[in-house]
Amino acid sequence: MSATVIDGKAFAATVRGKIAAHVARLKSDHGLTPGLAVVLVGEDPASQVYVRAKGKQTTEVGMNSFEHKLPADVSKDELYALIAKLNADPAVHGILVQFPVPDHLNETDIVAQIDPAKDVDGLHVVNAGLLASGQRAMVSCTPLGCLMLLRNQLGSLSGLNAVVIGRSNLVGKPMGQLLLGDSCTVTMAHSRTRDLPDVVRRADIVIAAVGRAKMVTGDWIKPGATIIDVGINRIEKPEGGTRLVGDVDFDSCAKVAGAITPVPGGVGPMTIACLLANTVTALCRANGLDEPEGLTA
Ligand code: NDP
Repeated sequence: MSATVIDGKAFAATVRGKIAAHVARLKSDHGLTPGLAVVLVGEDPASQVYVRAKGKQTTEVGMNSFEHKLPADVSKDELYALIAKLNADPAVHGILVQFPVPDHLNETDIVAQIDPAKDVDGLHVVNAGLLASGQRAMVSCTPLGCLMLLRNQLGSLSGLNAVVIGRSNLVGKPMGQLLLGDSCTVTMAHSRTRDLPDVVRRADIVIAAVGRAKMVTGDWIKPGATIIDVGINRIEKPEGGTRLVGDVDFDSCAKVAGAITPVPGGVGPMTIACLLANTVTALCRANGLDEPEGLTA
């Protein structure tokens, strides 16, 4: 078998097209423009690249982008004062603080400062709790993107066995909750899981969110399974330089799976698309308007 390669880049472009259409309607029918505020502390080069990409895609779909760059030694009080200002600003519907932050700041405490209704990264405990109890939440962008790819690929997920490898608050846990919400039978695997290959072999859906290059190999995969590779790992190329690979060994897994996401070009592009979608959703919820169809959990 040779797996279908799930083109996350193309699908994300379709999602952005839907968002742009929704944004245009919000402007023409209600005079409202969604606004996303991104806060960057310090000068981490990778974070600067992400923040630039987010700002560009935000304006491309017709939304307002507000970038706040703070020095690496900014005090906790100054950062929290900015977040409080953004919480109160009616032009700002989504707030994202780019992580990692310098060591003197605490990520959990920062997220707790954000109004849960504007927490477009879905990291606030209120949103984690709402998701876990099956209520309307702001859902973390990467798992939301994975869910959209799966629904698009498979239609109904009801009754399928899903194995999520990784249990982080950012990816693994919300992913498990979303799959449960779509009536999958979910197994959460992690570093202490015994005989992981055997656990994965039972899965119709495999989500790998670990951070270990090419860990999942073809002999772990049930024939025809759908594989979503969240991992982003930089490895050395034999000829020199580096390249990005996922947590899944693409070549061996693609021979057995029914469908598989590549790295890059799979989950990654969906993450920013879902950030934009969440910002539109936040505006709609704040104003009692219809939420964009197909762009929420
Ligand atoms: P974390 O480091 O927070 O979590 C990794 C998880 O993997 C942990 O739960 C850990 O288990 C588990 N794990 C580690 N080693 C093993 C192992 N040998 N077997 C099974 N499980 C293991 O990472 P994140 O969830 O934040 O990210 C995961 C990956 O996804 C990273 O490569 C990251 O770069 C990527 N990522 C990609 C995004 C995208 O847009 N494409 C967005 C976010 C992340 P335990 O809890 O027991 O320690």
